[in-house]
Amino acid sequence: MIRLSAITPSGHVQLGNYLGAVRRWAAEGTDEDVYFISDLHAMTSSHNASRLRSLTREQLAVLIAAGVDPRSVAVQSDLVRELGALTWVLECTCTYGEAARMIQFKEKSEGRSSVRLSLLTYPVLMAADILLQGANEVPVGDDQLQHVELARVLARRFNGTYGEVFTVPRAVVPPTAARVRDLADPTRKMAKSAQDAAGTVFVLDPPDLVRRKIQRAVTDDRAEVRYAPDEQPGVANLLEILAACTGKDPKELAGTVQGYAELKEVTAEAVIEELRPVREGTRRLLDDPAELDRARAHGAERSRDRCAHRLDAALRVSGL
Ligand code: ADP
Repeated sequence: MIRLSAITPSGHVQLGNYLGAVRRWAAEGTDEDVYFISDLHAMTSSHNASRLRSLTREQLAVLIAAGVDPRSVAVQSDLVRELGALTWVLECTCTYGEAARMIQFKEKSEGRSSVRLSLLTYPVLMAADILLQGANEVPVGDDQLQHVELARVLARRFNGTYGEVFTVPRAVVPPTAARVRDLADPTRKMAKSAQDAAGTVFVLDPPDLVRRKIQRAVTDDRAEVRYAPDEQPGVANLLEILAACTGKDPKELAGTVQGYAELKEVTAEAVIEELRPVREGTRRLLDDPAELDRARAHGAERSRDRCAHRLDAALRVSGL
C-alpha cells in the first residue's frame, strides 16, 4: 500500500498545511509512502529561482521536523529526468480537451493575459508523479479530486493501449482532516500564497506574531461563542483550530470559553505550543545543511529506485 501526497513550495508552510496534512503524514504515514515537495508544480506561475530553492529546503525541513519519516520524503525535482520523460509519454495519451476542462486551470487562468503552458499540463505531471511511484492511494482535498481522476483515466488508457504498466490509483478524502480558514477572511481557506499574510499563520512565525495574528482574527458582533460555521465562520474557525490543537471537539470547546478575547487567547497559546517543536526542529535542520542534504539525497535515491523499472517499462511498451 503506497500513499502519495504533496506540498507545493509556493510559499511558507502555513497552519492549515500543518493541521490538515503534514501532522497526519507524520502520524499515519509509513516508509512505503511518498511525500513530495512539489517544486516543479510551483513553477506553473511566475516564480523566483532563489526563493523557490529556499522554500523547497524549508518545506523539506518542516516535514522532517514534524516527524514525517525522512525515508518517505522527496523533492520532486530530484526526479525531474524521470518525471519529464513520463510526463511527455502521458501527454501523448491525454487530449487538450481533458486538460482544459480542469476546474483549477479555468480558475487560475481566468482573466490573465499570459498563462504558462505548464499551468494547463501540470495535472499530467501530477499523474506522472502518482503513476511512476506506483501509488495506490492519493489523499487529497476536494479541489484535487479531478486531477486524481485524470491520473486514473490516463493509467487505464495507457495500460489498455500499450500493456499493464501502471497501478490505477484511488483518491481518498481523509474524513478527519481539519480545514483551516483565513483569519482575516474566514470565508476562504488559509493558503500559503494568500495576498494578505495577516490572515495566515505560518509554521515558522515567532510566538508573538502568532499571538498578534490570532488576536486580530475577524469574528462578528454577536459576542457569543457558539460553533456555527455558517453564521459565525470566524468564531467557528478559531474553535476548529483550537480543537485540532487540543484533540477536543469544537462544539464542546465553545462552552468552555467566555467571550472572544478568551477564545483568541487560548487558541493562540494552543497554536504556539503545537507549533513550537516543529519550528525549533526546522530551525535546527536549516542550520545544519549537511544533515538536510543527506536526508534529501536519501529520499531522492529511494523514490528513484522505486520508479526505475516502471519508467523503463512505460518507455519500452510505448515504442521508445
Ligand atoms: P496551499 O493551499 O497552502 O498552497 P498545498 O496545495 O501545497 O497548500 O497543499 C498541501 C496540503 O495542505 C494538502 O494536503 C492540502 O489539502 C493541505 N491544506 C492546504 N491548505 C489547507 C487548509 N487551509 N486547511 C487544511 N488543509 C490544508
